[in-house]
Amino acid sequence: ALHEVPDVSVPRYVRVNTLKLDVDSALFELQKNYSVQKDNLLPELLILPPGTDLHDHPLVKNGSIFMQGKASSMAAPALRPQPGWEVIDACAAPGNKTIHLAALMMSRGKIIACELKKERVKRLKDTIKLSGASNIQVLNEDFLNINPKDPSYSKVNAILLDPSCSGSGTAASRLDHLLPSRTAGQDTDMERLNKLASFQRKALQHALLFPALERIVYSTCSINQIENEDVIKSVLPIAESHGFHLAKPFPEWQCRGLPVFEGSECLIRTDPAKHGEGFFIALFARKDAISSESS
Ligand code: SAM
Repeated sequence: ALHEVPDVSVPRYVRVNTLKLDVDSALFELQKNYSVQKDNLLPELLILPPGTDLHDHPLVKNGSIFMQGKASSMAAPALRPQPGWEVIDACAAPGNKTIHLAALMMSRGKIIACELKKERVKRLKDTIKLSGASNIQVLNEDFLNINPKDPSYSKVNAILLDPSCSGSGTAASRLDHLLPSRTAGQDTDMERLNKLASFQRKALQHALLFPALERIVYSTCSINQIENEDVIKSVLPIAESHGFHLAKPFPEWQCRGLPVFEGSECLIRTDPAKHGEGFFIALFARKDAISSESS
């Protein structure tokens, strides 16, 4: 039964869109009707009681706050994009992380939001419009077809790669697994996972080719090792040959990558039962001028 699903015990998170409203004003507004706390990891995140429904809240409608889980709100800050940087969001729609990047960059510099599927580009554009971000260029393109040697990408400092994944960490997908009919398709599930992992590896390798790149975040909302640690493990030697190392974002975060290769403690995992969704983040860094993270 639905009430047995752990999510009801997990708090609701909202991310304050600091392009439109400061965190304390959002807190003040929400506290009129809810018990609200600040998150201790991400300053722009507010915590509300489990089950709070904010879909129709005026602050949601006007783009001042976005309903975004804690785990997926960690991806853009892990990249630490600086105001004035050029950043590619390689797989951008519906754009939650794109506009988070824009907020962290205070709308300064440039974000190229790349999305393959035409029908998802509209959603991406709507999100961007609602956010008020003014430094995002939308590209309806296959990220793999973007030429890293093209002079227009010669200054790209960072890439956020949040590729298509199985979504096995999301609440919807975990509910799906409770249905008996799921067991029937296990072989095709494996095929699908292999295909996804092969794209994920390819996209990550492609991202490594941009000449001025300092940082890459790879993230999924999957809990499968094959889409997460295995992708990083297989690409790491190539990354190292390009001068990158695995860096450790959010060192205070306890839940790290599965211990399947040396360095996996740099990786971030979130636990669906504890954190509401299963998520994975890896950070590659090439220069440590702005970074205190160890390799
Ligand atoms: N980062 C988004 C967010 O936070 O809102 C979610 C991204 S979703 C996991 C992956 C997206 O990548 C999908 O919209 C999918 O259509 C797009 N995509 C898949 N393959 C792609 C490719 N080769 N190039 C660009 N986008 C691609």
